[in-house]
Amino acid sequence: MPPILVLSTRNAKKRKEIEEILGDLGLTLHDLSQYPEAPEVVEDGVTFEANARKKATETAIAIGQWVLGEDSGLVVPALKGAPGVYSARYAGKQGDDAANNQKLLAELAPLPVEKREAYYICTAALADPKGHIHAVVEGRCWGRIIAEQRGQGGFGYDPYFLVPEYHQTFGELSARVKHALSHRGRALLQLRPELRRQS
Ligand code: IMP
Repeated sequence: MPPILVLSTRNAKKRKEIEEILGDLGLTLHDLSQYPEAPEVVEDGVTFEANARKKATETAIAIGQWVLGEDSGLVVPALKGAPGVYSARYAGKQGDDAANNQKLLAELAPLPVEKREAYYICTAALADPKGHIHAVVEGRCWGRIIAEQRGQGGFGYDPYFLVPEYHQTFGELSARVKHALSHRGRALLQLRPELRRQS
């Protein structure tokens, strides 16, 4: 297994976070920008797990490397789980954070403050070079969506995602603190024994 672990993403900010979280394991982390031949995996699963497994398996088979497939998003129970698996394209266009945030705020505007509770979820699946899944992990982090953005850190919905215990948003918290609390940090923590075993 590693030396090389390929992250099945073209999202540079997600790659950076995963690198910060797993960086001390001594793996060589690549992402799909280094594999132009890798197919665009269609994220048509109805669950985060289905999408994470699909990204890991399809990418691993195509490039013949160990692959970490990660699918994540924001879930607002009062919005029937939206944006959910559609978090990256909630407002229509893939990866348009500003439009996604605007839509989220508009949907939440008529609701009382207690309905603004939300959680981030991250599911990660580890596939070997033949596409067989060796581990699937999940992490969650609860918070509340605020009306005015705060902080420049993180990405996506982070400037609006307040962690009540810290009185700060993911946009304000340092990367180190975000990773200690976050859905991604919590999910990848569970993957560390398997990554160590295979390396
Ligand atoms: P994916 O690339 O299909 O997994 O989409 C993930 C999407 O969920 C991102 O584009 C963001 O909109 C949202 N998301 C996931 N994790 C985070 C995070 O840590 N901060 C902010 N937004 C996130």
